[in-house]
Amino acid sequence: MTALDTPALGDLLRGNKRPIVYCRRCLIPETKPDIFFDDNGVCSACRNFENRDDVDWDARRVELEEVLDRYRSSDGSSYDCIIGVSGGKDSTTQVIRMLELGMNPLCVTATTDELSDIGRRNIENLKSLGVDFIEYTTNQIVRRRVNKLALCQVGDISWPEHVTIFTLPVRLAVQMGIKLIVWGENSQNEYGGPAAAATDNTLTRRWLEEFGGLLGLRVSDLVGQAGIEPKHLVPYRYPSDEDLARVGVTGIFLGYYMPWDGLQNAIFAQSYGFETWHKTIEGSLCNYENLDNHQSGIHDYFKYIKYGFGRATDIASMHVRRDRLRRSDALDLVKIHDGKFPWTYLDKPVEEILANIDMTFDEFVAVCDRFTNKRLFVTDRHGELVRDERMELTKINHDNLS
Ligand SMILES: [Zn+2]
Repeated sequence: MTALDTPALGDLLRGNKRPIVYCRRCLIPETKPDIFFDDNGVCSACRNFENRDDVDWDARRVELEEVLDRYRSSDGSSYDCIIGVSGGKDSTTQVIRMLELGMNPLCVTATTDELSDIGRRNIENLKSLGVDFIEYTTNQIVRRRVNKLALCQVGDISWPEHVTIFTLPVRLAVQMGIKLIVWGENSQNEYGGPAAAATDNTLTRRWLEEFGGLLGLRVSDLVGQAGIEPKHLVPYRYPSDEDLARVGVTGIFLGYYMPWDGLQNAIFAQSYGFETWHKTIEGSLCNYENLDNHQSGIHDYFKYIKYGFGRATDIASMHVRRDRLRRSDALDLVKIHDGKFPWTYLDKPVEEILANIDMTFDEFVAVCDRFTNKRLFVTDRHGELVRDERMELTKINHDNLS
């Protein structure tokens, strides 16, 4: 840590600092991967959201029922679909919607990295809705090693989770001969991504590889590191295109067929027993999402230090798009909550979370510094990151400069 020695903005602009450009409608910065800004300075996530006005949702609903009818087991001898679930607000809502539509789903949980108590209760709540359920737990010794490797190599502790939430339902679909996988939101649509991907309503191997959060670290890259052998990585591998074609596995995003909204889903899921946290979650603006994994705080913090925005910005931007929050108010909230050093998550101290992946606090800080984009944060005259006594960084700018 160094003493605060903030250069004047003019110096920053003359140096190698780069003021962040933000969407003029929401608060998403242009540093976000796969986001595009149009000539009016509005991001692709906002434009995608606007396009919802042109959608005939009644027609989409009919389309959904037709798709489900096509895949429904005619004689009850098999499941109608697989739903990848975490027990969160969205997957709880997905399951209820599928039951309402008369589907007989097999729910599959790819167990998260460090399951919280509230996460456990929400999984049990989901089971109590009356569905068959597979909870797939990967080898925990290997998993913790992968968490650490991914954190150190690509700055994403949640890499194995992001891989297995896609691979495991697809693997089980192939193995059990279930053709339809029902996903919730196409994350590229809400969060902003290439237009061609945002209108795609099926999940393909190519989609996983492009947008599934692999960050350039391939599953095969893990072999030989930290004692990891090919046999340890079975659940992390996506089935081959041949296997997918043989069974005829396809995936749909419910967000394509019904307007997706996290807050609505939270309210809906709560009336079916979904539990929220008793206060605003660290680094967030709400209490109803990302409740299941103690490592989420570290994951979100790395997004902040790499790209200059965190979970609070995502949530604020979603509410701004829906006119539930004024942009100026959202900006004030983001300044308070976004990108805080992850001292705790769901009240668990960071030292305990790190101990589970065999990492010390000092090692962690060194990894943080290595992944921090120094062009986005204040540094001292020696080019070292400036952290205050609470380890907080200072962003160069929170909004557009003109
Ligand atoms: Zn925007």
